[in-house]
Amino acid sequence: MDLATADSSQMLNVLPQLVPGSACAQCDVCCRFPEVDSFLRPYFTGQEIGAATAQGMPESFFPDTSGSQVGLVKNPVGDGYLCPAFDAESGRCGIYEVRPLDCRLYPLALMWDASGRDVLLGWDTKCPFMRDAIPGTIHDHAESIADWLATETGLETIAAHPRLIGRFQDDVIVLKQLPHLTARVRARRVDPRLHPLTLSDAPRFASALNQAQMLRDDAPAAFAFPYHYVWTSLLPYRWMESDRTLFLFADSPDGWFMPLPPIGAGPLAHAVEQAFAMMQSWNGPSPVSRIEHVPELQRRLLEGDRNQFRRKEGDYLYSVAALADLAGDHYKSQRALCNRAAREQTISIRPYHADDQADCAQLYRRWADQKRSGALDQMGALLLEDAQAAHVRAFREHARIGLSGTVARINEEIVAYTFGYWLTAHTWCVLLEVADRSIPGLAQWVFRETCRSAMAQGALHINAMDDAGLPGLRATKSAYRPSIVLDTWIITRMTA
Ligand code: SF4
Repeated sequence: MDLATADSSQMLNVLPQLVPGSACAQCDVCCRFPEVDSFLRPYFTGQEIGAATAQGMPESFFPDTSGSQVGLVKNPVGDGYLCPAFDAESGRCGIYEVRPLDCRLYPLALMWDASGRDVLLGWDTKCPFMRDAIPGTIHDHAESIADWLATETGLETIAAHPRLIGRFQDDVIVLKQLPHLTARVRARRVDPRLHPLTLSDAPRFASALNQAQMLRDDAPAAFAFPYHYVWTSLLPYRWMESDRTLFLFADSPDGWFMPLPPIGAGPLAHAVEQAFAMMQSWNGPSPVSRIEHVPELQRRLLEGDRNQFRRKEGDYLYSVAALADLAGDHYKSQRALCNRAAREQTISIRPYHADDQADCAQLYRRWADQKRSGALDQMGALLLEDAQAAHVRAFREHARIGLSGTVARINEEIVAYTFGYWLTAHTWCVLLEVADRSIPGLAQWVFRETCRSAMAQGALHINAMDDAGLPGLRATKSAYRPSIVLDTWIITRMTA
């Protein structure tokens, strides 16, 4: 049978097994998972759930019988968790003849690229057989699968079950981009009530925040348009209005979530209900449905509902006067570094100008290399890659989104830049700040100048954002003695 013309049920029967059974018998990767909620659990379509349950697999393993990832069971003979269809003693799949497409594709995998924009077909290097000996046939096999995925049946099968496409994994080697599938899935994923977040939405955003009276000096920095807009080339954002409430959603590779609580003057609990109803209709029962940057005040209002709260890294809020002075023993080391920079360098500062873009982009690359050559963990390295797009967007569009920039020069060369915005008349948020790390004290000197400039314009507080869970950043931000680290929460709902 020609795979390119097979329908989805025929496809299930004709996909050849790439890895020989003898290799599978010696391996302990497939069907076993370290965490109970592993994102690698196989996804079953409704049809596949019907076939699996007909073979005796209890329906209770599927939170949504129209299609869902299977629930795992504790491994009775070792660590971790197992697919409930897996027999740990024999090492075999108990529903092998009707196992789902997700399993039949393996060790090929469908996944989003790192930016979540394109669907890719790749092969998983976690499969030891593939790691040791890449069969020449794999490319032919991948071509056949890609051909089927470009047929109407293939496109519809995946578009109806977009969670068959996993998140990006850097140990999966990319074989092909799948542009037809990308277009079909994207078209199906987007609710027609949603609008892409564009520059022209800045006033709408500001007016909704004002009307909802959500802006306070100690509100999260995320309650501002530029905070989100700079990330839109990496993570598509969409918004909608309903019942005079603005809902902002982000379309991540794992599904939709809200980077902000609903913004409206009406009852918050009702808006949160609406938000979860929408996200669950798009994401199914996936735990990706969540609302981020919920301040403590709102958490208290929402307590006692079906909401579950998880702490998120909070923003560091400082007294601007303390940071402008850096007086006293607490700030001895920061003050010494500022003094050293001032003593050893002639630094001038002036507002960022469009002509500075190329030099700032070059500085970002140099700074990123300097950070990579230090002690940067994997998470830090990933954040650094992602952040470049946000910085470029700030260089290009700062003035139109309410961001204000400053550059510092030594001998006419740009050695630091900073971009920020006013959250309220008294709180200045430092969104991006980059300083050449080879110049001792420069970063501290630039930060102090930022605080002095904000104070001269009426700031009482500096919001320096959160620490992204990075220990080095936490230590640096804590050393500046925040007046408070904001209590900020993520709301989730119990999945069935
Ligand atoms: S369905 Fe079968 S092949 Fe797929 S993970 Fe479960 S046991 Fe393994």
